[in-house]
Amino acid sequence: MQLPPVFGKDNPVTAIALSTDDLLARLHEAVGASQVISDPSLMEQYVVDWSRRFSGPALAVVRPGSTAEVALVMRACADAGVPVLPQGGNTGLVGGSVPGPSDAQPPVILSTRRLSSIDPVDSLSGRRHAAAAGWYYGVDLAARDSATIGGTVATNAGGIHVIAYGMTRAQVVGIEAVLPDGSVVSHLSGLLKDNTGYDLGALLCGSEGTLGVITAVRLRLHRPAGRTSVALIGCPSYAAAMELMSSAVAPGVRLLAAEVLDEPGLDLACTTAGLAWPLVARHPVALLLEVVDGGDASGFVGLDDADVIVGLDASEQARIWSFRERQGEVFSSLGMTHKLDVSVPLAVLADAADELKALVGAYPTVEVFGVFGHLADGNIHLEIHGPPADDTAIDLAILECVARYGGSVSAEHGIGRAKAGELHLCRSATEIAAMRAIKAAWDPQGLMNPGVLFA
Ligand SMILES: Cc1cc2nc3c(=O)[nH]c(=O)nc-3n(C[C@H](O)[C@H](O)[C@H](O)COP(=O)(O)OP(=O)(O)OC[C@H]3O[C@@H](n4cnc5c(N)ncnc54)[C@H](O)[C@@H]3O)c2cc1C
Repeated sequence: MQLPPVFGKDNPVTAIALSTDDLLARLHEAVGASQVISDPSLMEQYVVDWSRRFSGPALAVVRPGSTAEVALVMRACADAGVPVLPQGGNTGLVGGSVPGPSDAQPPVILSTRRLSSIDPVDSLSGRRHAAAAGWYYGVDLAARDSATIGGTVATNAGGIHVIAYGMTRAQVVGIEAVLPDGSVVSHLSGLLKDNTGYDLGALLCGSEGTLGVITAVRLRLHRPAGRTSVALIGCPSYAAAMELMSSAVAPGVRLLAAEVLDEPGLDLACTTAGLAWPLVARHPVALLLEVVDGGDASGFVGLDDADVIVGLDASEQARIWSFRERQGEVFSSLGMTHKLDVSVPLAVLADAADELKALVGAYPTVEVFGVFGHLADGNIHLEIHGPPADDTAIDLAILECVARYGGSVSAEHGIGRAKAGELHLCRSATEIAAMRAIKAAWDPQGLMNPGVLFA
C-alpha cells in the first residue's frame, strides 16, 4: 500500500496552525467531502456517549476508509494543531469516546466505522468468519454488535469469558496504528515467538486513543470450547456466590464464565422484558455459571437443594444469559445512570460488594441501583440511577472504597475522562510519570484524545 510521506525524526512535526476552513479543506481532500461531517445537528451519535452522561462539541467528524486516509487526517490535524479523538462503536462508558464539555479546542472525531471492510477491524464479521472457519474469538461482551475491534483493543476490553481466554491484550498478536504525526507503525506478522524489543501492540492495548489510531489487528483465535451447560443459582449473599463458584463445578470441568447479578437488577430485567422471575424464590444474589461438560449438566455438582435453573440447549442458555447481559441496558432504560466498573482481589470481593451496596444505598439522591459483574474476575459493575450526571461524589466514594480494598478503579472500561482524576488511587506517582513520558514521546503535541487517561 502506498502511504503518504511521514513526519519522523528527520522531519519533525511543526504546528503550521491552519485555519479551520483550511483544515476542513484538507480533511475533504483526504477522505472525500461526503465523509466529513461539520454540521453540529448531524453529529449527535458521535458526540453523546452510550450512557448519555458524557458529551461535548466536536469540530468535525471524519470517516476515513483506509489506513492511508487515516494518516492524511492525522497529518492535517497535526499541521493545524487540532486534537484528534479516535472513535469506534462509541459504546465506551467512561467518557473517553466523546469530547469533553469544556475542551479548550473541540477535537476532530476520527470514526473508524468505515474501516469495517478490513476483516480484523470488524468485530461482527470477524466473529462470524472465525466461527465459519471453526474458530472462536475469546473476547465477548454485551456490546458485541456495536463495539469495534479497534475500540476493544484501545480499551483492552474484558467481557464474559476472561476467566477462560484472558483480556483483549492476550488476544492481540499483531497491530497496525497511525501515530499522531501521520506515520504508520505496522507489525502484523503474528509470529508466536518474536522477542525483538518493545511490544507496541501491548502498549496500544488500553491506550484509550491517547497514543495513536489502531487501524488493523491480528488476533489469536481459539478452538470452540465444546458444548456447555449454563446455570442460574439463587444465593443468600455474595459470600455464598463466591463459595458456590468453586464448589458447584465438578473437579476437572472447565469453567467458562462465572457472573453475578443482584435482586434489583434481576427484577428490572424481568419487568423491562415482561419476563417471569426465573427462580422459585427471591434471593439477594444470583450466580450464573457456564461450564464445558458436553452440554448435559454433568459439570455441576451439589446443587440438589439449590434454587437453580439449568440451560442445556442454545435458546434456554441465551434466555438465562439475557438476564445478566441486559443489566447495562435495563438500568439505562430508567434514564441517565452512573456506570462504575471496578475490581478487587477475590479474597475480599464479598466484603467489598456488601460495603459498596451499603454505601450506595445510603446516598441521598440514589433512586435505584444494581451491583453485578464478572465474579470470577473480581470485577464489580455498579449502575446507579438518581444522582445527576455532574454529581461525582458518589463515584468518588465508590472508587475510594475500592482503593481501600486494594482494587482497581477500572477493571475493564478504562479511565476515560470520568476517572482521569482518580488514576492515582491505584497507580503510583512513579507509574503515572512513566506513562506520561510514553505519552509525551508518542504524542509530543498532546493532540491524541487530550483529557483522557491523564487529568
Ligand atoms: C451494553 C454494554 C456492555 C458492555 N460490556 C462490556 C464488557 O463486558 N467488558 C468490557 O470491557 N467493556 C464493556 N462495555 C464497554 C465497551 O463496549 C468497551 O469499552 C468497548 O471496548 C468499546 O469499543 P468501541 O468500539 O465502542 O469504542 P469507543 O467507545 O468508540 O471508544 C472507546 C475508547 O477507545 C478509543 N478508540 C476507539 N477506537 C479506537 C481506535 N481504532 N484506535 C485508537 N483508539 C480507539 C476511544 O478514543 C475511546 O477512548 C460495554 C458497553 C456496553 C454499552
